[in-house]
Amino acid sequence: MNYLLLAFGLLASGVNIALAHDEHDWRKDYMAYLSVQYELPMSYEKSGPARFATKRVDMNFFKEKLTTLSNTTDRRSTENLDVARQFLKEEYEKLGFEVRFEAFGGGANFVAEKKGTTEPQKVLILSSHIDSVRCKGANDNGTGTIGLLAVAQELAKNNYSYTVRVLGFDKEETGLVGSDAYVASIKTKSNIIGNINFEMMGVNSRKDGSFHVIDCQKESSVVISSAIKSSIATLGLPLTVVKACTDRSDHASFWRHNLPAVVISENFFGGDADPCYHAKCDIVDDRLDYKYMGNILEAVLDASESLLK
Ligand SMILES: [Zn+2]
Repeated sequence: MNYLLLAFGLLASGVNIALAHDEHDWRKDYMAYLSVQYELPMSYEKSGPARFATKRVDMNFFKEKLTTLSNTTDRRSTENLDVARQFLKEEYEKLGFEVRFEAFGGGANFVAEKKGTTEPQKVLILSSHIDSVRCKGANDNGTGTIGLLAVAQELAKNNYSYTVRVLGFDKEETGLVGSDAYVASIKTKSNIIGNINFEMMGVNSRKDGSFHVIDCQKESSVVISSAIKSSIATLGLPLTVVKACTDRSDHASFWRHNLPAVVISENFFGGDADPCYHAKCDIVDDRLDYKYMGNILEAVLDASESLLK
């Protein structure tokens, strides 16, 4: 309850600041009021940047693509993983990303890239694992994979100094095999700015907006988690970061090579894990909270842009 009041307080104080600059623009005042009261995007803007960012990540697109990705019985068999990789290839090519598959012993990672304008050798890696455990994997890890696609849809619209590289890792569920092979194969590791790993993020059953940004307090990784926390505050998003530490996803492969990395996920370790985790009921249904996922993705999009310059 307290964090909700706090979030509202921050938003309200933001309104006061905005009004102090422009006291007589009543249409703007009213839109600001609506955006706070009803969480509507603030679409009226006289000049300059909006005090509250308009929501950018398209959650209708997200829902449509998540439903398509979750169509096969699982993403474990090579055949079904091929279907998923082909689907992602088409989606990223539509966005103008260059796509390739990188084979390793027993599997293939999906890679999509948008080159940086001034320092393309520097790379931010956004990743998710695309395999699932004997189920459709709508949440684990459909939400991470499609969340990343929805963020990429926005990143595709602008140019950045550094390169953004999307990784769809294979065989995460069988021991981080795909990410381990990929990170080991990176030739100049000093060019990697870091990794943001998207994990399951659909369940917010307590409706408290709590989620994880896990850096295990590793010094170089804190730079990334701080960027995400700063975006939450700047955008006034109703999210609370709950501390946890784990190496149970692909970000840990980056840590093993001393590269900065964080994993974002629903409040899995804080008592709000998905009851359908690794179970047949991990399908697209009402337990997935699109507003909550949208807020997480807004924060990660904004932080990614600050890291890509
Ligand atoms: Zn997972």
